[in-house]
Amino acid sequence: MKEISSAEFEQVVLQGNKVVVDFYSTECPPCEALAPKFDNMAELYGEHITFVKIYRQGNRELAEQLGVKSSPTVLFFDNGKQVTDMISGGIKKSELVERLDAMLPKETVSTIKSKITKHTTYCDALIIGGGPAGLAAGLYLCQAKVNTILVDIQLPGGQVSTTHQVSNYPGFVEPQPGYMLSHHMSEQTRLCGTQYKVAVDVAHVDLHNKTVEIDAFETIQAKKIIIATGASPRPLGIPGEKEYKGRGISYCATCDAKYFNDKDVIVIGGGNSAVEEAEFITKFAKKVTMIHQFAEFTANKQAVEKILANPKVSVLFQSEPRAFTKQGDTMTVEYENLQTKERQTISADGIFVFIGMQPNTSLFGADLQTDNWNYIVADEDMQTNIPGVYAIGDVRSKKYRQITTAVADGTIAAIHISKELM
Ligand SMILES: Cc1cc2nc3c(=O)[nH]c(=O)nc-3n(C[C@H](O)[C@H](O)[C@H](O)COP(=O)(O)OP(=O)(O)OC[C@H]3O[C@@H](n4cnc5c(N)ncnc54)[C@H](O)[C@@H]3O)c2cc1C
Repeated sequence: MKEISSAEFEQVVLQGNKVVVDFYSTECPPCEALAPKFDNMAELYGEHITFVKIYRQGNRELAEQLGVKSSPTVLFFDNGKQVTDMISGGIKKSELVERLDAMLPKETVSTIKSKITKHTTYCDALIIGGGPAGLAAGLYLCQAKVNTILVDIQLPGGQVSTTHQVSNYPGFVEPQPGYMLSHHMSEQTRLCGTQYKVAVDVAHVDLHNKTVEIDAFETIQAKKIIIATGASPRPLGIPGEKEYKGRGISYCATCDAKYFNDKDVIVIGGGNSAVEEAEFITKFAKKVTMIHQFAEFTANKQAVEKILANPKVSVLFQSEPRAFTKQGDTMTVEYENLQTKERQTISADGIFVFIGMQPNTSLFGADLQTDNWNYIVADEDMQTNIPGVYAIGDVRSKKYRQITTAVADGTIAAIHISKELM
């Protein structure tokens, strides 16, 4: 693994054989989550493929030339030519493996795979997801001396680590940067003794038998499973969104706002997240246009008053995006005025989407009871309909989703499990 700069790009990448490049940024949770996966891939494939990292903030011109618009972004080169698509955002290990395998002959891939040995790890409690809910559960379980493993597809922290400021978590007089709050939570739980297996791919969850397969070679067998997988940004689901995700459309202001210094930005949404993140983006952008479907914002009063008073911000109320297009570096949104039904377009250097969240439940199968919106139903002890399986935090069907409520759910499930295992 080598860190290079723009000056070395020609020699190392363009004149190299098979090279993989990771453009990363600082203060970027998905970049931190990718780092151990990238290291792990370099160990496995390093004999055949060169792995390099480039600091995006320090090499902006090169990043822009290569069309890198989001952090992290990974590009694949074979004899100086870019091969396969670039990938960005919350990159899974399996996405890397798929592309690396495609760069090599089949026999080489088989030799690499034969070095991996499968094994089973046993524990009392397995927490899937390391946001505030999972971290609080891990803390209470390890303090009760329950042998606990926490798995996460990213680094621990959850949504909090991508929130620029948290002002309503008790115990702090001043607003806390989200990544610091999640760092303290994560360190407290880790140092207590909860075993972390993070930045892994999680697949094949069998809730009845209490097994979870990670990274395709380790099975974790537990007595109790706690689901704490939280929620992810909801996509709009309109033409152009998938295509330009990470190439002009972002879902993380903490990760990408710093690249819009003095630029025009469009923010889609009008709830708490959209309004708070738009306010943060105005620290960098010269102009922010918000597109919101209703006649008023639905965020809290204080945040609404602040954003409406911000001279950099203008709002298209009662309007809904219909499609995204891109010409050169300029992103365009086609939107419909919901009153007049007229369609118009607006262009900017980048687009941020904050239109709410959806629960991360796709892994868990049809036996697990969920509500109409796919959130997991659990009782007051956080037990689901499957014995020994608990659901906590934002992934649970409930009215209010906050850090405090997630932490409360984790506490309750952990105390219940500790008593059951006594
Ligand atoms: C922009 C924004 C601002 C916010 N601001 C505030 C605020 O100021 N105050 C407040 O109280 N709340 C705020 N919230 C809400 C708060 O962040 C959430 O309520 C809280 O993080 C929920 O915690 P959680 O542990 O349930 O889930 P999450 O924080 O979503 O964590 C879930 C974890 O599970 C992991 N995961 C997902 N899928 C899998 C899988 N298949 N396998 C393994 N792991 C998986 C994820 O990587 C993540 O680490 C904000 C949310 C957003 C998006």
